[in-house]
Amino acid sequence: MAGTIPEEEELMKELQERIVQDGKVLSASVLKVDAFLNHQVDPQLTMKIGQRFAELFAGEKITKVVTIEASGIHFAMATSFALGVPFIYAKKKKAVTLTEEVYSAPVHSFTRQETYQISVSRQYLSKEDRVLIVDDFLATGAALVGLTNIIKDAGAHLVGVGAVIEKSFQEGRGLLEQAGVRIESLARIESMSPEGIHFIEEEPARV
Ligand code: 5GP
Repeated sequence: MAGTIPEEEELMKELQERIVQDGKVLSASVLKVDAFLNHQVDPQLTMKIGQRFAELFAGEKITKVVTIEASGIHFAMATSFALGVPFIYAKKKKAVTLTEEVYSAPVHSFTRQETYQISVSRQYLSKEDRVLIVDDFLATGAALVGLTNIIKDAGAHLVGVGAVIEKSFQEGRGLLEQAGVRIESLARIESMSPEGIHFIEEEPARV
């Protein structure tokens, strides 16, 4: 309809506005969004994000959505609900209940300056799977590269990555693109400082 903003643009705008209003730039590289994204969570916004990822990857015959605990879980849940498939969250610590064989990969956390092992039970990923990875942030890409290695080990097909916020000035996108991975980020931050946040303005993909 003439004069109305398409839904995908509305969501991008809403997300950008929330990042500006409720986010806090802690340094040139760290954005705190725990008022609405990854500590206190806005469920309506989360469900819209899941719906959007499902639309962007519609037709890809996705069988599983995969994320890492903890801050990707609600986005994976919303996306998998919209797609009607299960989601898996990679565990950061091996639980005593995780008795079966696992796929695992090391992830170096630059925010915590430590390397940890992520793991997924071999029971839940196989070469028949078509996987969409979803996470809250695409930053250095370390976490998502770890996940892509797990998916490769399982022989599953990686359809792409959906990130809610991408800090485009960090190397994550480049790393994943080099590996030929399709990336859809809903808010792309070009630069940020306590004075302001600059987004990469682009036409949202029409699906
Ligand atoms: P990576 O650097 O591996 O791409 O990001 C790993 C994880 O660190 C993300 O999934 C996210 O949970 C967290 N992270 C990275 N950058 C930020 C940031 O600027 N703010 C917050 N709140 N979390 C971040």
